[in-house]
Amino acid sequence: MPSTLWSPVKPFSIIYLEDGVRDLPRTGEILSHFPSAEILPIRHYKDLFAPSGQPWLAEKHHPALILAGDHQLPSDADDPASARIYHGAPVCQNFGNFHFYYTSLMMNCIYDCEYCYLQGMYPSANVVVFPDLTPVFSRLESLLQEHPVYLCISYDTDLLAFEGVTGFIRDFIHFTAKHENLTVECRTKSANIGIIRQYLADGIQIPDRFIFAWTLSPSVISARFEHLSPDTDTRIQALLEAIRLGLSVRICFDPLLEIPGEADSAAHYRDLIRTTFEAIREAVPDRELSDCLRDVSLGAFRVTKGHLKNMRQRRPDSLVVQYPYHLENGAYSYPEDIKNGLTRTLLSEIARYLPDDKIFAWH
Ligand code: SF4
Repeated sequence: MPSTLWSPVKPFSIIYLEDGVRDLPRTGEILSHFPSAEILPIRHYKDLFAPSGQPWLAEKHHPALILAGDHQLPSDADDPASARIYHGAPVCQNFGNFHFYYTSLMMNCIYDCEYCYLQGMYPSANVVVFPDLTPVFSRLESLLQEHPVYLCISYDTDLLAFEGVTGFIRDFIHFTAKHENLTVECRTKSANIGIIRQYLADGIQIPDRFIFAWTLSPSVISARFEHLSPDTDTRIQALLEAIRLGLSVRICFDPLLEIPGEADSAAHYRDLIRTTFEAIREAVPDRELSDCLRDVSLGAFRVTKGHLKNMRQRRPDSLVVQYPYHLENGAYSYPEDIKNGLTRTLLSEIARYLPDDKIFAWH
């Protein structure tokens, strides 16, 4: 298994620390992973989580780590966003869940996908971690008293890739196990399944309602546009291991991309779908595919207008970012014919392996 901690240059040689989180046990655990880092006190993470004056890509390649507190005001107590819990965005797949939220335990990612919306959403490439889960769990408890909750915890980052440092997933597994009307999705491109295997070996029970969702892309996309993350084969191996461990596994073919310079992008996705499902069949021959997978999602690249504008400024040379997308209802995506053609082709390919009720497509 490759190392799960990224090292393009020397990440996190500087760690900025808000006073309010200095004494938290998780802060101490996080800092222990970076014994050589220079620790600098700050008043508020937003003082650093702002345009730095240097090119965004340079900051992305040498980010600082910022450990920040909650900054909740008493008057915000009834606002879910006050505990970094937000309603799911319309461009995100809700998998049929009405009460769809996401939470931001970290902002920014140790991977570097050229198409990532985070580079259009945040003013800085520095990585912010909020070590205190107490306000998040407290707000969730309130929501769960009102209705079931479907919560995505790894949208604005890749939590599994950084789990060895934060332990957030472990704590969310415990919380999910105690709350029967909570379903959690942890989306990832990481191969860090070893840490989850260790949790199981330590006796931690992982409920079916805790979903590990792997994003898969054809190898040509992974190699060209998904920098620093494990390659496609390595991700497939990780999800196979997750299935063998009996975890609830989702596969996301999302975002689907038209591959620059390739005449038939769909062919690459068809190959990926076949490779993935055949690998699952081979890895667990005694189980039906539909028992191995919770579901599969797919969706063409889409991003809000404002985010794409920032992304284009920050990635002037990226073919995937500079593609002439079509604007509709405030979001950029491919023109209908391209989007629907790609989606329909892949839907029919996935339908060879899974029943319709396990396939979710974003249109
Ligand atoms: S893994 Fe996800 S969050 Fe991380 S850079 Fe890639 S698209 Fe963004």
